[in-house]
Amino acid sequence: MFDYPETMLAHDAPNPWQAVVPPIVQTSLFTFKNVEAMEARFRGETSTPVYSRGDNPTVREFERKLAQLEGGEDARAFSSGMGAISAAILSVVKAGDRIVCVRHVYPDTYRFLEKLMTRLGVTTTYVDGCDTEAVVQALPNARLLYLESPTSWTMQTQDLPRLAQAAKALGVVTVIDNSCATPLYQRPLSHGIDIVLHSASKYLSGHSDTVAGVAVGSLARIAAINDLSYPYLGAKLSPWEGWLLLRGLRTLPMRMAWQWNSTRVLLERLQQHPAVHTVLHPWCQPGPGAACLTGYSSLFTLELVNGADARRFCNQLQIFQLGVSWGGHESLAMPALVSRVQNAGPNAQVDFGISDQMVRLHVGFEHPDELWRDLSAALDAATRPA
Ligand SMILES: *Cc1c(COP(=O)(O)O)cnc(C)c1O
Repeated sequence: MFDYPETMLAHDAPNPWQAVVPPIVQTSLFTFKNVEAMEARFRGETSTPVYSRGDNPTVREFERKLAQLEGGEDARAFSSGMGAISAAILSVVKAGDRIVCVRHVYPDTYRFLEKLMTRLGVTTTYVDGCDTEAVVQALPNARLLYLESPTSWTMQTQDLPRLAQAAKALGVVTVIDNSCATPLYQRPLSHGIDIVLHSASKYLSGHSDTVAGVAVGSLARIAAINDLSYPYLGAKLSPWEGWLLLRGLRTLPMRMAWQWNSTRVLLERLQQHPAVHTVLHPWCQPGPGAACLTGYSSLFTLELVNGADARRFCNQLQIFQLGVSWGGHESLAMPALVSRVQNAGPNAQVDFGISDQMVRLHVGFEHPDELWRDLSAALDAATRPA
């Protein structure tokens, strides 16, 4: 209906009250006039909502927008990103199948594959997503290729058109976690990927007040996910959080542009700084998937030089707050060394070789000059003799 995301995000589907903001349909169930109307609905001849575990109108509006933003036929929203990831994977694989997954996927995705999927008889081969030919060589006899581009922590990108084409030729279903690039800056379905997943808790929400997820794809792929998640898994999004997401989405293009503007200033200065060994961000290290990205987000990882104290760097920060997650209004720092003390294994940071000198940073809405003062003071503190 609308070609430009800005226009789509400013307008909603009509509602019975012509309210300019869609109502929060805070109800568990929907009623019917008579038994015949109910039968018609259960036969699938009508499509009015039945029960909010499956088809709440506020949630459907969020799903409709995400499908449109990603260029998919349909979408299914979840109560978390992990809800979307687990349901999408379970909708494809069965016991005895093998998954091919890129290294440096989100740590809980890794734990899901290693702890739950192995228990169900599904094994996973991990590959270097930057080595396109190595990924292709791992595909024969696999059932699913799981991508994340850019990846968590290392921000590596993958050649989506090439991998989608190779997987399709072998009948391997392709799934991607697109949380970091957002549908504004990467449209994986247009490159032939089958299912796109998001943690909507991040940029889509944009205000650090919601935990949510979404899966987007063809009618058939989303129907397969629905067949599992509506009746059994049940990790549904609440109408209130669906409404918060619709509100957050309106400003996605402006937020992303402002945040990238600040991030670029910081990346330029950080790359020159003597306390910084490497800056991991697709703008600095494009990788094989660079051509798929039409813009950049505000999440990146710093690797400090040996001898610089990552703990002191983080403790010195005043504006960047210490916390997990990202994508909201506030700037955040996440030290890799903290994940070492987590005993819920297996540990992605350890298994994928994330250095304790690494700190992940998220740039929020604060002024870039203030953020730079904060970072440079902390870098000075990190390299000052103890
Ligand atoms: C946060 C995150 C997830 C998990 O999402 P939740 O909404 O926290 O369940 C998945 N993938 C990536 C890349 C993430 O950053």
